[in-house]
Amino acid sequence: MSDCIFCKIIDGEIPCAKVYEDEDILAFLDIAPISKGHTLVIPTKHYNNLFEIPEELGAKLIFAFKKVGQGIMKATGATGINVVMNNFASAGQVVPHAHWHLIPRIEGDNLFKITQGKYDSNDEMQKLADKINKCL
Ligand code: 5GP
Ligand code: ZN
Repeated sequence: MSDCIFCKIIDGEIPCAKVYEDEDILAFLDIAPISKGHTLVIPTKHYNNLFEIPEELGAKLIFAFKKVGQGIMKATGATGINVVMNNFASAGQVVPHAHWHLIPRIEGDNLFKITQGKYDSNDEMQKLADKINKCL
């Protein structure tokens, strides 16, 4: 897509600190890292978000998360790693080219924690599970 910043990175119009590439996937360092080594894994074809990704890319993405994730941990000395994907603006997606964040973590770094809540009852929880299931 001509006005997509990540497509421009793939085409070499914008430079990046490349970590890994193959025909289907590119991984490069995030320009504004949550921690040093924070890497973005993206498909080389433009898809807006998870829901546009073809299923046959799934195994290749998992392979890249594992390969690049292990490399990041080894290179940075991280003891953990988050694999995060934001989909749509409401979930914090800024760049509309599907991508995964690989964020190296060190025990006790307290970089981010998602606030968790609770259901009013088990009944409410089960009804919502059933509703989601009917939407599949
Ligand atoms: P999102 O919020 O869409 O999930 O994440 C987009 C990410 O892309 C952000 O973490 C941001 O720092 C990164 N980013 C945006 N523009 C560039 C760029 O030109 N180069 C690199 N390497 N990262 C970028
Ligand atoms: Zn794109």
